[in-house]
Formats: sequence, C-alpha cells, structure tokens
Amino acid sequence: MTRWDQPGVPHRGWRCVGVEDLGADGPRYEPGTCEMCGKERLRYIHTMEHDEYDPLGVGCVCADKMATDYDAKAEEKKLKSKAGRESRWLSRRWRTSWNGNPMLNLDGLNLGVYFHHGKWKFWITDPMHGTPEYSPAAYGTEEEAKLDLFERYWQVKQEREG
Ligand SMILES: [Zn+2]
Repeated sequence: MTRWDQPGVPHRGWRCVGVEDLGADGPRYEPGTCEMCGKERLRYIHTMEHDEYDPLGVGCVCADKMATDYDAKAEEKKLKSKAGRESRWLSRRWRTSWNGNPMLNLDGLNLGVYFHHGKWKFWITDPMHGTPEYSPAAYGTEEEAKLDLFERYWQVKQEREG
C-alpha cells in the first residue's frame, strides 16, 4: 500500500522545502525511494512539508501532485545542469590573473582563487558592484577552494536569474 492510499495522508497542500541530487556524489551514489508511492532508484529527492503531516522525501511525479505551484521537473533540470558544470569545474582551462592567480570570467563575473598566509581562498567579483567578495573560509588545497567557489558562483548565478 502506498501513502496515497493510506487514510490520513494529505494529497494536497504540500510545499517543497528542498531538493537533493543524490547522484552528485558519484561513487557514494545511493538512489532514493519515494516515501509517497514507493518508487525506487530515484536520483532526485524532493523534501515536502505539510502542516498536518510529517515531512516526506518524494520523487518528482508525486512532488508535482502534492504541491500545486511547484515544478519538480524544472528543479531537477537545474540540478542536473549544476552537476554537469561542477564535474567539469576543476578541469576547466583556468586563466592566470595579472598577479598569477587561477581565475575565470564567467557569466559576467570575475572569480578565482589565491594563496594567502599558507591557505587558499577564493574571490568573486560582480563588476556591477565592483568590490570583490572573498571566501569567509580558508582552504588547505587549491581544489577545495575552487569547489567552494563553484558553490558560491552557482548561488550568485541563481540570485541573478531570480
Ligand atoms: Zn512517488
């Protein structure tokens, strides 16, 4: 019996509070199972909340039915393109800034990493605002700094696209 057939489980009025790409971690990939209909081997899990029920992790088909103004497929597409970009991120052809740091010009942003006091940090500059934003953390390796830079770059990109 699926939760759809269980008495007391609301069918409507859910909202999505997050979606996770279980495939993003490569070798540690453990596909998910929809807690609503029991469908297995899901790469994306949408976390749904309801005022009268416990949160559930579900697949896109159920998520679409449970929340009226949520486009589960569109969210998965965004994550897919993020995962694709992320997997190519470190092997991109990084340019060298005037003072010798690896950098990229992407989507109108200037970003890169630099070595400072024995640690790596990143910066990201939106020319519209001028002043660079520096990473709050410092990293032991260039790769770690670049990967966190990717996360920040993606956030900025989403904010700009509204
Ligand atoms: Zn389902």
